[in-house]
Amino acid sequence: MSTSLQTRPVAGVVTAHRQTEGGGFIVRRPFPSASLEQIDPFLLLDEMGPTDYAPGKAVGAPDHPHRGFETVTYLLDGAMEHRDSTGGHGVIVPGGVQWMTAGSGVVHSEMPTTEIQLNGGRVHGFQLWVNLRAADKMIRPRYQGFGPDELATTSTAGGSTVRVVAGEVGGATGPVESTSPVTYAHVTVAPGDSIEWTPADGHTALVHVFGGTVWVNDVEVVDGQMVVLERSAGSVVVRSDAGKGTGAEVLLLGGQPLGEPIARYGPFVMNTRDEIEQAFDDYSAGRLGSIAPLDNAG
Ligand code: MN
Repeated sequence: MSTSLQTRPVAGVVTAHRQTEGGGFIVRRPFPSASLEQIDPFLLLDEMGPTDYAPGKAVGAPDHPHRGFETVTYLLDGAMEHRDSTGGHGVIVPGGVQWMTAGSGVVHSEMPTTEIQLNGGRVHGFQLWVNLRAADKMIRPRYQGFGPDELATTSTAGGSTVRVVAGEVGGATGPVESTSPVTYAHVTVAPGDSIEWTPADGHTALVHVFGGTVWVNDVEVVDGQMVVLERSAGSVVVRSDAGKGTGAEVLLLGGQPLGEPIARYGPFVMNTRDEIEQAFDDYSAGRLGSIAPLDNAG
């Protein structure tokens, strides 16, 4: 692809740290960290695995609440089953995505499918948390689920593949209706190829590398690192070096900064401390509901 005259300066490069989450699974987490609490409107990015579970060993995140933001799960390997207190239910398969708007609040569980729990298998994927603006924090919870064939895809002459979950990259527009403007794409960059992405002027733009090595606007970035671009105008060019031979895997994340105060505690993200206390009160009192028991009849 050709390169625009103007490219966005790189504001910084962060290296993901490892962390144990949920029922004991390991994630690679670029943020939040001690040095980077959030990147408005994004609150968290976790890479789950890749982990090869033995039979009986797969773990997930059993029943827990959320309020005030959105959780986005994109799976590369394995299968995850999500259930929630509104009756929402879905199985996420490789290449599929689930965009959950927690809004006013849900209790949900995010578990490897029964088959993976029984037989073992590889689980690999991402979870992104997207903040909601104050006016949207108490909206009705919503699930959007899309299979791999429902994502928008495009490819370059050089053999790179772009899968778009939300927003527009390379002329492909993803199926998710995000509550605020968000771009989410997974790009497999072919060796020696490059792709160009032009985020909206002034929006946050991130490139997370989870395989191989790339140059992002001429800054070298390796597996497990994430580039934060300045919130200016201009494009983002992600280039793979033919000499490395292996290409690269990256996530492109763009979003409109909300510019509002953030009060955050565990599974709740609101604007004020009082609203966090209210969320805990509501959860303790059962007002976020509970997940209906599975029907085991027969
Ligand atoms: Mn969750």
